[in-house]
Amino acid sequence: MASKKNGIARIAKQQKPAYHRILLKLSGEAFQGPQGFGIHGETILSIARELKEVHALGVETAIMVGGGNIFRGARQKGFEIDRATGDYMGMLATVINAMALQDALEKEGVFTRVLSAIEMKEVCEPFIRRRAMRHLEKGRVVIFAAGTGNPYFSTDTAAALRAMEIKAEAILKATRVEGIYDADPEQVPDARFFTAISYREVLSQNLKVMDATAISLCMDNGMPIVVFNMNRAGNIKRVVLGERVGSKVTPA
Ligand code: UDP
Repeated sequence: MASKKNGIARIAKQQKPAYHRILLKLSGEAFQGPQGFGIHGETILSIARELKEVHALGVETAIMVGGGNIFRGARQKGFEIDRATGDYMGMLATVINAMALQDALEKEGVFTRVLSAIEMKEVCEPFIRRRAMRHLEKGRVVIFAAGTGNPYFSTDTAAALRAMEIKAEAILKATRVEGIYDADPEQVPDARFFTAISYREVLSQNLKVMDATAISLCMDNGMPIVVFNMNRAGNIKRVVLGERVGSKVTPA
């Protein structure tokens, strides 16, 4: 019995997360899977299964979802649209993704709440900081929708803002490459990989980590960012367990 107990204790020790509360930034791209747009059922379900494992470690998990798989504001290709109008459309797109992720997580038995920066009371709760924190304390996964609620911003900046507000210990920024490079590794095969880098270097070298507003906000408030490859199964959990995965942006 004692040895079994010790065994359990050992497993529990091995699985001790490095973070108590995280904010995961998932771009809309993460949901589109092989179809290249919209929401791909199997892809979103596999994300939900990974998140369930992270949640089971006892990590309080908040997620900021993007909307680029559906609509990308001013950057949307194909037609001219007023910037603010396009940005509001982009924010509405994030709500669709948030609802899809909520559904996928609840199918996995994980309790969630969607909190939108644009009020939509028939669909989800409004963002109220204290309520978000209470949900996290109660073990619910909180999904932030509609970015900051303001045009001329991105969901990266919204992720930085919310991470600070809810006192997350780090932002986990999911991408489709291993982390931060000095050039696009999909275009430049010998691009240099950084395991760690400072906010200043990211800004001065104009590295494509998050937009400059988001990086500045993290720099001013000492919010660590871990950039990692979302296409490798189990990576979210590895980051949460503090394994050497991806690149870390920190002050020094
Ligand atoms: N957006 C905005 N304000 C915000 C967050 C997002 O106006 O606070 C708009 C903007 O047009 C953006 C779109 O919503 O292009 C979708 O968000 P984003 O491009 O950040 O999504 P991702 O690239 O992460 O999928």
